[in-house]
Amino acid sequence: MSNCCIQSVPPDSSLKAFGQPLLDWQKRLIAGLDRSVDDPGQTLGHIEEEIARKTRDLERTVAQEVAQKKADTAPPICPVCKGRLSRLTHGHKRTIQTRFGEITIQRSRGWCRKCKQWRYPADDLLGVADGGSSSPSVQEMAALVGSKMPIAEASAVIERLTGVTLPQSTLHREAARQGKRAQELRDQLDAEMKTALGAAQEIHVSDETKPFTLVIELDAWNIRERDDWGLTAQKIRAGQKPERWHWVYAATCFRLDDRITKGERAVICSRATVMTRMGIDALKTQLWAEAMRHGLGRAARVLVIADGAVWIWNLVEDRFERAVQRLDLFHAKEHLWAVAQTLYPEEPEKAQAWVKPLLRDLERDRAEAVISTLEEQLAHLRGSSREAVKREINYFGSNLHRMRYRDGGKRGEPLGSGAIESTCRQYQCRFKRPGQFWTREGDEALICLETFWRNRRWPVLFPHSAPTDLSKN
Ligand SMILES: [Zn+2]
Repeated sequence: MSNCCIQSVPPDSSLKAFGQPLLDWQKRLIAGLDRSVDDPGQTLGHIEEEIARKTRDLERTVAQEVAQKKADTAPPICPVCKGRLSRLTHGHKRTIQTRFGEITIQRSRGWCRKCKQWRYPADDLLGVADGGSSSPSVQEMAALVGSKMPIAEASAVIERLTGVTLPQSTLHREAARQGKRAQELRDQLDAEMKTALGAAQEIHVSDETKPFTLVIELDAWNIRERDDWGLTAQKIRAGQKPERWHWVYAATCFRLDDRITKGERAVICSRATVMTRMGIDALKTQLWAEAMRHGLGRAARVLVIADGAVWIWNLVEDRFERAVQRLDLFHAKEHLWAVAQTLYPEEPEKAQAWVKPLLRDLERDRAEAVISTLEEQLAHLRGSSREAVKREINYFGSNLHRMRYRDGGKRGEPLGSGAIESTCRQYQCRFKRPGQFWTREGDEALICLETFWRNRRWPVLFPHSAPTDLSKN
């Protein structure tokens, strides 16, 4: 360090960047800020922009120097097997994209005899061991913005807000990589729920002695994929239909006392989301783990609400056998409306007059009376309308034990599965845009990131993002 720096550096500073670079920054910044102050056309926005731009280089210099310091502390130990490394050499350069721009550090490399691999212990220490050239902070940016908006937009938004240039291909690769990591972590956390380790993930409320109801809602929506990209013509020639739409299975669970009614709307303060493209069994595993975190093992009452889909009730019988089952009231009503339109296709007033008392019957737990009315109609019907009404009789008949609404209303329980339906709509805003095609791996990875964010487990994925571990709250 030169003499001129020593005079101006605070005595406790041990970074070179706090010497001359700090003085240069001060000088450059002051000149720019003076211009902003004098120019009546410039607002606070210009001042903010000036500070952010001019400070970036100093931040980059500090980041590089400190990263190098940290890299130098890495012991010659294999980060995987903890064995001592041999054939050590030093000065291996690596360039990393950070939130302040690119930095280059030098680190040591050693041979691990046990793993039979070259190791760079500093990379693990800095959190950049798993391929890619992005720092943990940039990895997080790619994951967060890439899961919330289309990649082309995400790239532009990141550049505008942070100054980090991430080409679309890099952003896409990084978001997918983080999504894959999120999936692996999700599977690991879910597996822990089956063991004693799971207790650490359970979410507790202040008064655990109060009996509570756990509500679970399920639904599904479909996503457009192009698994057989470029093979469409070939598939058609082979007599196969190229598949485009696939199911994404969804569920939510929350404690009833976390659902607060504000005016007409119910707001759920704390709840878990499960969303997967990997099939019903994957949903079953993930939902069970999530329900356990939210008190499945301790709940006085477990209530499942969903529409009439058969797969849902099979899953519930299999995994949540003691749960009370409820058919979504609004779906049930829609089925009655469909019958009314079959009976009076051109007469909306008659249809309404016919359906009204039946809707009331449903609300008052008189589903048997609804079925009798439908059966009476059968005598006057032929052909397709007869078949349609028969189908509805079956629908109500097979869901009879799930249509007890009065008691649920008195307990303040939801009568429909609106919470999960609105969640599905929110995911669709991101994953079901016009012209969008996904691959099975691609959509699951990004859906998984979105779900980590919603379930407030982001810091588990990116520990630097929170000073304290939110997952333990
Ligand atoms: Zn090793």
